[in-house]
Amino acid sequence: MDGFEICDPRFRAFVLPNAPLEKLADGFRWCEGPVWFADRDELLFSDLPNDRVMRWSESGGLSVYRAPAQFENGHARDRAGRLISCSHRGRCITRTELDGRVTRLADSYRGRRLNSPNDVVCRSDGTIWFTDPPYGIQTDYEGGKQESELPASVYRLDPRDGVLTCVADDFQGPNGLCFSPDESRLYVSESGLQFSADPLQHIRVFEVDDEGLRNGRVFHKVEPGYADGFRCDEEGHVWSSAGDGVHCIDPSGALIGKILVPATVSNLAFGGRSLSRLFLCASHTLYAIYVNRRGARLL
Ligand code: MG
Repeated sequence: MDGFEICDPRFRAFVLPNAPLEKLADGFRWCEGPVWFADRDELLFSDLPNDRVMRWSESGGLSVYRAPAQFENGHARDRAGRLISCSHRGRCITRTELDGRVTRLADSYRGRRLNSPNDVVCRSDGTIWFTDPPYGIQTDYEGGKQESELPASVYRLDPRDGVLTCVADDFQGPNGLCFSPDESRLYVSESGLQFSADPLQHIRVFEVDDEGLRNGRVFHKVEPGYADGFRCDEEGHVWSSAGDGVHCIDPSGALIGKILVPATVSNLAFGGRSLSRLFLCASHTLYAIYVNRRGARLL
């Protein structure tokens, strides 16, 4: 099967040999943060160093959704369908209301400014979970050099009362994150210190309860490259970005197959009518490919 690597025979049924990897648009500096809006049949994603958020749809093609965009990175949707964004330059989490106004939801923890929120997910209880590594304040390219005031951590935000809780602070560069379909697990990738000769490449997994996270352990090490962003399908397989494309990892942590992409993939999102089309932010290019699995329903 051209374009795929089968690591476990099960993966043959996960992909479609006649479904091509489609290049939808390119010319971006670095794409990130894809999020699917099913009701509008469109994808939003960041072109991070270009300080803009792009919109793509089958019928309307490519357009600019927001620019300047405070160097937004990861995105998600909340239960009301509002866009939740990680802002590098703003060092905050924002919510774009349905009328377009932007509300700042969190920008500090215990009186210190956040670093540069990287990726975000929403839970069905209304809470917003995000990672806060310093990547966006280490260069002018991705937001602007500024001093870090907090350790790189993972946070849970309750937007109803504004309470921000640190749920993990033992990370070197927490990056992408994703709940399992039943929300009993949270996966968080750890990509290490920027400019390190030996970046970390693994995804960690935690059990989730009302208090936060427990029993964290290394779930899977991604090679080549590292895990940036990832999503679960409805059966709980983790589809992760990697240096050579997309890696599909089963819930036990075993790599079962790859979609090979001719560029480093940073993040991905399931979309399309049945959530079976995988949209890939891959360096300078936006790709899509239909697969034979559906993405976990987000909320
Ligand atoms: Mg990321």
